[in-house]
Amino acid sequence: MNGVHPTEGDQVARAEELTKAYGEGEARVLALRGVNATFHRGGFTAVMGPSGSGKSTLLHCLAGLDRPTSGRVHLGDVELGALGDRALTRLRRERLGFVFQQFNLLPTLTARENILLPCGLARTEPDPDWLARLVGLLGLTGRLDHRPAQLSGGQQQRVACARALVTRPEVVFADEPTGNLDSHASADLLRFLRRSADELGQTVVMVTHDPSAAAWADRALFLVDGRRRHTVQDPTPAEVLRVMRELSAVPEAA
Ligand code: ADP
Ligand code: MG
Repeated sequence: MNGVHPTEGDQVARAEELTKAYGEGEARVLALRGVNATFHRGGFTAVMGPSGSGKSTLLHCLAGLDRPTSGRVHLGDVELGALGDRALTRLRRERLGFVFQQFNLLPTLTARENILLPCGLARTEPDPDWLARLVGLLGLTGRLDHRPAQLSGGQQQRVACARALVTRPEVVFADEPTGNLDSHASADLLRFLRRSADELGQTVVMVTHDPSAAAWADRALFLVDGRRRHTVQDPTPAEVLRVMRELSAVPEAA
């Protein structure tokens, strides 16, 4: 059933038969081949799969950063493909959040200014209580006047998380958010993402290739060659590792 569990609560986002092709002719690559997935409010999903399996492409299509070649993405009652570029940009700003592997903070701005950037772009005022809660949960109190270069990698990524969540987005997308962090900083970040789902009701979709990172999620979806091949509910590192080995050993069915 593609991970659809009606008891999990409201459906926030849905991908239907997503296909994405890059390039033309002999250079044509099918990065996604008919992917279906449903995301529920407050759910934390890990997207896994080997390098080149389409994880980032899936995330980008779900997040309206890229348009699928065919298929549909629904966010609430909106179908992203029906929106023009300006409306899509607005929807991204107002309703979605992103965390990237490279943090992507603006170096000349303080942590506070970086966190408030999406509010400026969306011309909305931050909710002071929400902001204080985020900053507290992320352990950034006392760091808000620092510039990125004055912060550790872990702190920079936590600033990026606060920036992603400041507008209370419907879904937070994170592409390998712990890829540049040491194990201690990774655990802090993953614990925050877990708490943001459990305590703040945030919906989180995270790409990772690390079984111990995936184990923080409620479920792990596995892509192989652009197809969804497996789902693990309540993943443990051992189970994720077992599925990874199985999927890389068994040739794709024709
Ligand atoms: P993953 O994140 O799982 O490593 P990607 O989604 O980045 O995989 O890529 C899936 C496939 O699509 C790969 O074969 C990759 O080379 C190809 N691809 C991704 N982005 C582009 C692009 N902009 N142009 C051409 N090919 C791309
Ligand atoms: Mg990727």
